[in-house]
Amino acid sequence: MSLYIESIDNLIKEFRKLPGIGPKSAKRIVFFLLKFSMDDITRFSKALVEMKEKVRFCKNCFSLSEGDRCSICKDESRDKRKICVVEEASDVIIIEKTSEYRGLYHVLGGLLSPIDDIGPNEIKVPELVNRVKNENIKEIIIALNPTVEGESTSTYLKKILEPTGIKVTRLASGIPVGGDIEYADEITLGRAISDRREF
Ligand code: ZN
Repeated sequence: MSLYIESIDNLIKEFRKLPGIGPKSAKRIVFFLLKFSMDDITRFSKALVEMKEKVRFCKNCFSLSEGDRCSICKDESRDKRKICVVEEASDVIIIEKTSEYRGLYHVLGGLLSPIDDIGPNEIKVPELVNRVKNENIKEIIIALNPTVEGESTSTYLKKILEPTGIKVTRLASGIPVGGDIEYADEITLGRAISDRREF
């Protein structure tokens, strides 16, 4: 039997769907929200609904957009021969902040994960292949996280894109600035050595 009243239980269940929120945190958030005024709650729920109503995904690259195509895809000054492949739209914002990249993007919306039944058709892989066929792309830069899923997705993309003759690169990864070789794990250090470049 539940300790709480139904409306509280329901809200706890909703918060538990969020990443990184366990039962304890969900409970803490709900009890915190109980102290909100009606005005605060209305503003909070309105912001959620508005976000869902207004934010769209670009039909070309699947990044966030307020129209059919995002500001990057519409920008004539971008280098349209390059596509940087990322997992989530939030990664686009991170790369844009570096001001180092002037090409286009492609947001996969996830990574391959056979355990979770996520294959190429569950993420935007076919759409990427179509773009390579239909746009004048010369280079695909794979910028996925160096996790197990990130690595296997990168390898898969390399395998299916290489026969097209297109240049496939990935982000160099290695020792972080301010880091110490002594504390780097073997995989990081191995990648740093194999991806080394002249200077
Ligand atoms: Zn776009």
